[in-house]
Amino acid sequence: MKTKKIRIGNIYIGGGEPVRVQSMTKTKTIDWRSTVNQIKKLEDVGCEIIRVAVPDMPSAKVLSKIKKNIKIPLVADIHFDWRLAVESINQGVDKIRINPGNIGPKENIEKIIIAAKKRKIPIRIGVNAGSLKILKKSDGWIKMSSDERANRMVKELMENIKLIENMNFSDIVVSLKANDVQTTVLANQIFSKKRNYPIHLGITEAGTEFSGIIKSTSAFGILLNQDIGDTLRVSLTASPEKEVIAGWEILKSLGLRKQGIEIISCPTCGRCETDLIKIVHQLEKKLSTYYSLLTTHLRPIKVAVMGCIVNGPGEAKDADIGIAGGKGFGLLFKKGVPVRKIPQKKWVDEIMREIKNVQKKI
Ligand code: SF4
Repeated sequence: MKTKKIRIGNIYIGGGEPVRVQSMTKTKTIDWRSTVNQIKKLEDVGCEIIRVAVPDMPSAKVLSKIKKNIKIPLVADIHFDWRLAVESINQGVDKIRINPGNIGPKENIEKIIIAAKKRKIPIRIGVNAGSLKILKKSDGWIKMSSDERANRMVKELMENIKLIENMNFSDIVVSLKANDVQTTVLANQIFSKKRNYPIHLGITEAGTEFSGIIKSTSAFGILLNQDIGDTLRVSLTASPEKEVIAGWEILKSLGLRKQGIEIISCPTCGRCETDLIKIVHQLEKKLSTYYSLLTTHLRPIKVAVMGCIVNGPGEAKDADIGIAGGKGFGLLFKKGVPVRKIPQKKWVDEIMREIKNVQKKI
């Protein structure tokens, strides 16, 4: 089922638009200069939508300053207080995210809806497993199956949606997040059969860089492969740039976005004739100082760096630029054609030169 197309500032999500990469700032929003600086760094690595926490009124009051200084759509994340949502909307944000379950009585939610309608901005309704309204200790949540948890999350989301739809508002984006893969996947699968609102994918409290990326990749891979998901955030206890880079890598690996430079490198083994791990790290570092590996203005190219002649030539041939290692040298391929031998010491510089030549031709 194709999801509804929704406008968020200067971009669209859903309805066949590319799956968008989101992140959230980790600065204090009230420190708007630091927040803007962080967002600019995120724009550089390909962040397409940014969410900021709005915990109090002073933070809401600086949103217009942040908005004026960034290029990507700004989303205000609100809990508990409808006044923060209304102020954020009046400050010019492009979307707000609320959990109606903690906003209080229906009248409070209505005030937010009226303000959003006036400015024609969408609202994301997020239900997180940890903050379910219908959850009581006596429910034995811990002992519940993923299936039961997922159904409870969808039930609460549907109640929220109906409440808002009854206020004649349908500019809705949803999210159903849990901190485990099974519940998150099931909840999103169940919801996607009920309504066609765009879905934001995420795992709550996913964890540190390594485990968080694995958890998110597992969940997003299953869902995106079933065409479920219109935006995503890889939440990590790490810098937000890493969240964005991980998001792009997931989308690129699933063939859903083709952007920038993709490095294909072998894991190395006893046949490897070069210090490949060091070479690939050097290449990655050099590339990121010239241009982000992800930014949209780059021609999408594959660069293969392979350790030996077993799989090396095959992979190197498939890539736009490739190198397959031999003893002390490497054979450079361009578009599958062997071009020349390169001494090991010069691999990084020569590959960089070839990449720059390709990018110049845009
Ligand atoms: S390309 Fe060669 S060195 Fe790299 S993993 Fe394969 S066999 Fe090992």
